[in-house]
Amino acid sequence: MENVIVIGGGPSGYTAALYAARANLAPIVLTGRVLGGQLSLTSEIENFPGFPGGLGGPDLMERMRQQAEHFGAVVKYEEVMDIDFQPGAHHLVTDQGEYTTKAVIISTGSSSRLLDVPGEEPFFGRGVSTCATCDGAFYANQKVVVVGGGDSALEEGTFLTRFASHVWIVHRRDELRASKIMQDRALNNPKVELVWNSKVQEVVGDKQAGVTGVRVENVVTNEETVLDADGLFIAIGHIPNTKLFEGKIELDEQGYILTDRRQHTNVPGVFAGGDVQDHVFRQAITAAGTGCAAAMEAEKYIAELEG
Ligand code: NAP
Repeated sequence: MENVIVIGGGPSGYTAALYAARANLAPIVLTGRVLGGQLSLTSEIENFPGFPGGLGGPDLMERMRQQAEHFGAVVKYEEVMDIDFQPGAHHLVTDQGEYTTKAVIISTGSSSRLLDVPGEEPFFGRGVSTCATCDGAFYANQKVVVVGGGDSALEEGTFLTRFASHVWIVHRRDELRASKIMQDRALNNPKVELVWNSKVQEVVGDKQAGVTGVRVENVVTNEETVLDADGLFIAIGHIPNTKLFEGKIELDEQGYILTDRRQHTNVPGVFAGGDVQDHVFRQAITAAGTGCAAAMEAEKYIAELEG
């Protein structure tokens, strides 16, 4: 019987593991195969307090992992395949073994939403990207499309003008969801062109040249155009990684885990932190904060369980 199993190796999971380890609970962290969560896809983090010069996402994750391990957390690169929540003895099946544990902390994060159009999947990582900060530099003096109308799309579009010669931002409506400041920044940039009322229909290209264009349809006029772009950046929001918990734990209508203000889920002994339960802030520091709170509550829960 384990004390605490943390599912997920991003800022929430590693912070939960650090706190649980320092409380002598010998936590196990099951990271799955994508190490470091979404931060591992981020090149430079300038808003994590304590690092005034900024640092790389993978670097921050590596430091968090080392710090948790230093105090006794055991990190395993195992993927949780099934889970049976039984208060007092939760049972987890991974791709490599089985565990029974008093408490579970879910920090499985979220993943980028995709378009589900022809060409997206075959060109993913070869012209189609969900991370401008990771891949923007590959598009020096080239043309790119960003799809989405929220803060992410406009932030990524503006960022991409550092490299690209032209940035189309394709949005499905005639009004942006993004904040005023993000809109002003993007719309005042001479390299940015907004393509309103339009949906991406296809990513065009071939094996040799990679992406050569993005076919869009104007939803008002039904007119189709191929934008001669070399890359497509998808910034249309995120989906929480909660498939494993459907029907087993209370989720909101978008699939995020519902937690109370102390990171408790509706199942005793099961806590959640980070993006899997937060579609508002979605920051490394808020994920770390809720991971910390989840671990402190798990510690209290175990102490009460052992009476
Ligand atoms: P978001 O606010 O949910 O925006 C998603 C955008 O993608 C919307 O414009 C939406 O269109 C569009 N969209 C969704 N599904 C689509 C589809 N299938 N096809 C085409 N377009 C689609 O997501 P986000 O921009 O990632 O932002 C998430 C949160 O993080 C927000 O709270 C945001 O403020 C915050 N954020 C903040 C910053 C910052 O302040 N620096 C930066 C990035 C993100 P509709 O508008 O028509 O629904």
